[in-house]
Amino acid sequence: GVALVWFRDDLRLDDHPALRAALDRGLVPVPVYIHAPDEEGAWAPGAASDAWRRRSLAALAEALAQRGSRLLMLHGPSLGTLQALAALTGAEAVLWNRRYEPHIEARDTRIKRQLRQAGLHAESFNGSLLFEPWEIETKQGDPYRVFTPFWKNALAQWRLRPLWEASARLPSPDQAGAPDGRHLDAIVPETRPDWDAGFWDEATPGEAGARARLQAFLAHGLEGYAQARDRMAVDGTSRLSAHLHFGEVSVQRVAAAVLAAEVPAPDRERFLAELGWREFAHHVMHHYPHVVDQDLDPRMADFRWARPLRTTLDAWERGRTGVPIIDAGMRQLWQTGWMHNRVRMIVASWVTKHLRLHWRHGARWFWDTLVDADLANNTQGWQWAAGTGADAAPYFRVFNPVSQAMKFDPQGEYIARWLPELAALPLPARFAPWEHPDLLRRLAPRYPRQPQVDLAQGRAAALEAFAALRAGR
Ligand code: FAD
Repeated sequence: GVALVWFRDDLRLDDHPALRAALDRGLVPVPVYIHAPDEEGAWAPGAASDAWRRRSLAALAEALAQRGSRLLMLHGPSLGTLQALAALTGAEAVLWNRRYEPHIEARDTRIKRQLRQAGLHAESFNGSLLFEPWEIETKQGDPYRVFTPFWKNALAQWRLRPLWEASARLPSPDQAGAPDGRHLDAIVPETRPDWDAGFWDEATPGEAGARARLQAFLAHGLEGYAQARDRMAVDGTSRLSAHLHFGEVSVQRVAAAVLAAEVPAPDRERFLAELGWREFAHHVMHHYPHVVDQDLDPRMADFRWARPLRTTLDAWERGRTGVPIIDAGMRQLWQTGWMHNRVRMIVASWVTKHLRLHWRHGARWFWDTLVDADLANNTQGWQWAAGTGADAAPYFRVFNPVSQAMKFDPQGEYIARWLPELAALPLPARFAPWEHPDLLRRLAPRYPRQPQVDLAQGRAAALEAFAALRAGR
């Protein structure tokens, strides 16, 4: 018999439940990837994601070829393509690992029903989470909206499951008479971006790159993680986010390796808790699917957000706000497709508090520019910063970007790295150059003279708008 193994955001062979199911049942797996961005609703992948996925697919195709199999890359619509391919190969089963984006969950439910009606065995698996979003619930059987009890409950029921390794040889889909499939160029059009050169100095999409990254982190990064993770100038985090988003490494394998590592318990626990935030984001998105477009907290519905001005957003997106830590973060994002978590929080607070713009304006830019853009994590990150989400920072807590920079980039190294035009400024001026106009004029003549919003005024206006909301004004 033959099984179509439908690859999506699980671009690996290791510990791949759908592939495993095919082989365990003695079926010849026909690996297929279907390009169908128009089936993703309002959140079709952004440009940076596409650039990453293209490379990741090439790596997966290569890895399959090395094992005697091959990846069929086809155009959507997904359902029609799966049906046609099943007819052509005589497949009896269609197997895939789940995705949890609301639009995709609904689509996949439809596809599963239709395939079953057509007499096929359609089955989905958990290939990307430690827990299914519906496995963790409160004593009352409700979903969680606060992280700590969610994660405590999850850890209490956690059992490591045995990991699975794909064999060195896989049966060839030729046995099933599978067609050639399109070449990668035909399905994910080569846009020849001129902005991604800096991405690939720092990251290697694909399963081998993910493995290397994990090994490097286990060897050099995990010990000390609890402290180093907030220092933006330090390479103190795993940088696994895009690999995890595209499923190039199994999160079960990451967690198992971290659990087995001989490092101080706080480092291990802190890292597992970050994986826990990822779980929590998927839990919330599954149970409250409106969060991807709307505030989770309905009390924020009448908040007086500012009108989004293109010039304001442009200055933020391009790293020209005049606030060094924010501009440094936005340049890191543009040049590498990734931004340090602490800086993501600072720039998101700036947008939603100092600029008083609805979080979706910032979330959109992140969506297009992050290689790790992930609907659950991005939504949660933005709603957390905006004070509109589950277990969010309250709206009245406004990050001061200058004191954040002084605390987490005390030598100003991160600022100097991503904003070389400020590298000549001595330290205190590098954090708040507008307070040192002479130095700024002399040493960094092209940098904005003033922040796009005065820090004290922006903060006061945000707090006033929040007070008005509370008072029902
Ligand atoms: P590590 O510190 O090594 O963490 C390990 C893994 O845990 C990460 O790879 C990630 O999968 C997960 N993780 C860590 N922190 C979080 C978190 N706060 N929420 C959910 N999962 C987390 N993460 C994304 O993967 N995609 C996004 O689109 C995204 N958008 C964000 C937007 C904002 C405004 C904020 C504040 C955070 C966002 N994050 C997002 C979360 C976090 O910033 C990144 O996951 C992290 O910086 C990735 O770097 P790392 O892999 O080195 O993290």
